[in-house]
Amino acid sequence: MASSNFIRTGRKIIAIGRNYTEHAKELGNAVPTAPFFFLKPTSSYITNGQSIEIPAGAEVHHELELAVIIGKDGRDIPEKDADSYISGYALALDMTARNWQEQAKKKGLPWSAAKGYDTFTPIGDFIPKEEISDYNDVDLSLQIDGITKQQGNTRDMIFGIPALIENVSSIMRLEEGDVILTGTPKGVGRVLPGETITCELVFRGKVLSQLRFPVIDRPKP
Ligand code: MG
Repeated sequence: MASSNFIRTGRKIIAIGRNYTEHAKELGNAVPTAPFFFLKPTSSYITNGQSIEIPAGAEVHHELELAVIIGKDGRDIPEKDADSYISGYALALDMTARNWQEQAKKKGLPWSAAKGYDTFTPIGDFIPKEEISDYNDVDLSLQIDGITKQQGNTRDMIFGIPALIENVSSIMRLEEGDVILTGTPKGVGRVLPGETITCELVFRGKVLSQLRFPVIDRPKP
């Protein structure tokens, strides 16, 4: 399946904001009544074992997320058909320069820089759809230097995956290899150079993805 090469062939990363109530609250945001999203560049992908780079002056937070991989092109996809557009999943991080995101919010500016730095979308291997028979029951966990910081289950999403696919595809065409980052559970926080992030995706007791990302200073040009 071509979409298993999504890291090389995918054209966009659609990242859902505030899709877990407890996370919206921890950042002092209102719980949304409709989905909203922003875009990240595919150039921000890194794969298991590569380093996350912290730009000078950035307070970078980890956001642990289930990524949905799109398997075929579609627009205006109704919720009831959404399932057939999913080819698989991956475990991902939506790294965020929180201080710059907060400044952008205050000034009404876009989040592209705060979310789009190189290395800001660490992502695991393609997990075929068949390995997760219920996307509403996926356990996600993240540790920094072995200490658990985030632990969540996709059942706590405010907007489920079909609703997200319907919403996004009503605005922009979904294409094979596109990725939807479905939002982060509570527990986001800062990560520093020298630390190591590890994370896990578990479906009903079975570990389907296990990732490790050292954190370093962004090299000077
Ligand atoms: Mg996020």
